[in-house]
Amino acid sequence: MALFQKKKYIKINPNRAVRNQEQVQPEVPDELFAKCPSCKHSIYNKDLGDEKICPHCGYSFRITASERLALIADDFEEMFTGIETKNPLDFPGYSEKLEQTKAKTGLDEAIVTGIATIKGQKTALAIMDSSFIMASMGTVVGEKLTLLFEHATAERLPVIVFTASGGARMQEGIMSLMQMAKISAAVKQHSNAGLLYITVLTDPTTGGVTASFAMLGDIILAEPQSLIGFAGRRVIEQTVRQTLPDDFQKAEFLQSHGFVDAIVKRTELKEKLAFLLEVHHV
Ligand SMILES: [Zn+2]
Repeated sequence: MALFQKKKYIKINPNRAVRNQEQVQPEVPDELFAKCPSCKHSIYNKDLGDEKICPHCGYSFRITASERLALIADDFEEMFTGIETKNPLDFPGYSEKLEQTKAKTGLDEAIVTGIATIKGQKTALAIMDSSFIMASMGTVVGEKLTLLFEHATAERLPVIVFTASGGARMQEGIMSLMQMAKISAAVKQHSNAGLLYITVLTDPTTGGVTASFAMLGDIILAEPQSLIGFAGRRVIEQTVRQTLPDDFQKAEFLQSHGFVDAIVKRTELKEKLAFLLEVHHV
């Protein structure tokens, strides 16, 4: 017991103590600096530029749907708004979470859908926004995407989808998993009509989104170092009882294993998409 009763005496130089009290910590507003999730460098926000790319490692920071639109589209007409997300399972706290997220993000759901022009090429466009409940796929995300594909099929337009998602929305249970089949069926009808579908996988694209429409693109692009996977790394490691390589589930690893066609820097995406739309014009 004597061990625990032993008191520690710490001598403090009185002058130094006073100096420490007077020392004023410089205030650094949070929005001035960003920490790169990939290389862990602290970066002056201004140095990220409009494209929000890490100057040290090239990681493309997560951006909102409106920031993405500004980078990609010449103009955009939003469609399929005003579809209200319900709480079909009466999941505790879900309705409140939806209200808070709507107020915080200004979005009505985790995906923005509409018709855009990219360097003069008309296309149906959907952008997922990870700031809305990690862009999880619920019934409304599924409905908006399905409506967009049906509209594009009727109007004979290509479709571009920017994916970013934590997966299916657990608060909607089986209803959210059903969206995987519903969207995939609409993608197939669009494909049967001989129309082009491009997906751009951004950080992070996971779960039921990866297992359905994200991987159904005729052309699959990805942003550098994006996390792309189905189950989480730890789940897989515990299941297969193996240590996975460091770059496992990164865009570059997926490209080398044939799941991704090309990795395109954010600064070159608009040009690349316009080119692909032009050569596949029907
Ligand atoms: Zn970095």
